[in-house]
Amino acid sequence: MAKHKTHFEDCDVLVVGGGMAGTGAAFEARHWGRDLKIICVEKANIDRSGAVAQGLYAINCYMGMQWGENQPEDHVRYARNDLMGMVREDLGYDMARHVDSTVHMFDEWGLPMMKNEKTGRYLREGKWQIMIHGESYKPIVAEAAKKSADKIYNRIMITHLLMDESKENRVGGAVGFNMRTGDYYVFRAKTVIVAAGGASHIFKPRAVGEGMGRTWYAPWSNGSAYALPIAVGAKMTQMENRIVLCRFKDGYGPVGAYFLHLKTYTQNANGENYEKKWYDQTKELVGEYIDHHPTPTCLRNHAFIQETIAGRGPIHMVTKEAFQDPHLETVGWENFLGMTVGQAVVWASQNIDPKYTNPELTTSEPYVMGSHATCSGAWVSGPEDLSPPEYFWGYNRMLTVEGLFGAGDTVGGSAHKFSSGSFTEGRLAAKAAVKYIEDKKAENINVTDKQCENFKEVIYKPLENYTVGRNEITGGTVSPSYISPIQGLQRLQRIMDEYVGGIATNYMTNENMLNRALELLKWLEEDLEKIGAEDYHQLMRAWELKHRALTSQCVTEHTLFRKETRWPGYYYRGDHMKLDDENWHCLTVSRRDPKTGKFTLEKVPVYHIVDEKEKKKAS
Ligand SMILES: Cc1cc2nc3c(=O)[nH]c(=O)nc-3n(C[C@H](O)[C@H](O)[C@H](O)COP(=O)(O)OP(=O)(O)OC[C@H]3O[C@@H](n4cnc5c(N)ncnc54)[C@H](O)[C@@H]3O)c2cc1C
Repeated sequence: MAKHKTHFEDCDVLVVGGGMAGTGAAFEARHWGRDLKIICVEKANIDRSGAVAQGLYAINCYMGMQWGENQPEDHVRYARNDLMGMVREDLGYDMARHVDSTVHMFDEWGLPMMKNEKTGRYLREGKWQIMIHGESYKPIVAEAAKKSADKIYNRIMITHLLMDESKENRVGGAVGFNMRTGDYYVFRAKTVIVAAGGASHIFKPRAVGEGMGRTWYAPWSNGSAYALPIAVGAKMTQMENRIVLCRFKDGYGPVGAYFLHLKTYTQNANGENYEKKWYDQTKELVGEYIDHHPTPTCLRNHAFIQETIAGRGPIHMVTKEAFQDPHLETVGWENFLGMTVGQAVVWASQNIDPKYTNPELTTSEPYVMGSHATCSGAWVSGPEDLSPPEYFWGYNRMLTVEGLFGAGDTVGGSAHKFSSGSFTEGRLAAKAAVKYIEDKKAENINVTDKQCENFKEVIYKPLENYTVGRNEITGGTVSPSYISPIQGLQRLQRIMDEYVGGIATNYMTNENMLNRALELLKWLEEDLEKIGAEDYHQLMRAWELKHRALTSQCVTEHTLFRKETRWPGYYYRGDHMKLDDENWHCLTVSRRDPKTGKFTLEKVPVYHIVDEKEKKKAS
């Protein structure tokens, strides 16, 4: 262990993950905490890290309040509708009332925004989306974080949170290692803001073998945002609400601009509009939710999936009509150049020119995240002026562990934040974290050397497992004593795919399957103690896998707990096929006991704050 040098860094605000939420947090922490020491630690390099690494073509969350386009209340109703009622409206409203100011800063910082030349307004792609030339999006927000933080540490993966040993349930920092040098890093901190993105690759992806890594969601997002808080006993919410995306097949190119701006539409292999055909069947399952406008994302998936199961696939996007207009054709291609160049390459390799051939669509494997059309994540306090007592415990976006904050994909219950809303939530969390320090809530934190040394031993164990175990290998790569990260990952993906509602079963699961999954996940957890890593890169893979496995346990526990099918099209409980508002119009909250590893789950009321407020005003 001595060969891994230990570095200590003491700070006030530690930001874990320098993606959209993390850069927002670093920026805002400096605004409120002029004299504080602010550190941001990133697994990759913040100039090109996270889900926005390649750039985006649209900012998907902008109210346009200055022009009276939308109000925060409208956004709450929209997100509530899309998530079939299950959102934290206090968090959604809070994000929406601040998001425009974030976008205006992006504009000031030089992000190329598309504007209507006559009105000067941002050009809209849809009701909530505005269009940008967004290849440079991530470097621009990274610049703001770099100017704000005392130091940015790139290439360090955070593996564990440190806990205060003088006061129970209070955070004390985080530890990790540098993937290039192998050095060990201890960050003792008064507050920690976890902003480590969502989780891909916990369900088996459609692309395996030669195409592995080609997923819709960023392949490097490995669920640290969930595993870090779960491991220290923080409560989580809505972890069953995974997301399945309808995207262009094989390249996962975005469809939003096509539907919204190019006005393209979908059809089955016989050229029929299939969505209407599933109306009665869907109504049987979810009741009046199918009549809501816009149709919730999961229900649109549902029609797609059922039509394919019925044998009338593949489903196509009708592009041939729109692409006859040269302007729309250009927009269609630029949409990929701004964020998913790979889709253009896939089409070239498959001889598809969307002007002459309607390209195929597919539904993705499920992902776990908290900022898109989905709301898995940590159970956090809301803002004091909006949140009912069950949703408020002192500091905005603080988890149920004191001093530990979250933002972006980390935070559950607040869907449809996207890039701008995640940055905004980072700002909100940082403001509250600074107040927590100013209120002297972070005094006398005690993190002993012993705690740090123990983690050091645990972190590098996979290198030792490999060094010892490799001598027993007589041929190939299969060891009697350890498993490699890729072997462990594929085992995890099969469990999740086949038992927890992945593509293998057309997103279907039930109580028996989930119980079996929990059993298999437990054995996997045991075997992961024996994971072997041959170098620092594989050590990162080992820790990514451990974080994915813990996240998967939580997802499975939640899926077992909610005995209904709330989001057909995201997943189905075959033993409870209908949406059940009478018993399950509630949020699900879990806690894993760090000592025993056992999860407990509870129902928490979902408050429809926005319309309640209006009802009160009217009376
Ligand atoms: C394919 C795709 C397309 C999208 N398109 C749009 C769009 O068009 N418009 C829009 O507005 N939004 C879009 N979004 C949503 C937007 O990208 C996310 O909402 C936003 O990036 C979430 O911010 P975040 O900070 O939570 O996560 P991220 O931005 O992903 O950042 C997480 C960061 O944490 C780091 N990290 C992870 N684990 C660790 C660890 N253990 N230690 C240290 N660092 C760690 C990662 O490297 C990463 O930099 C899209 C998302 C995806 C996946």
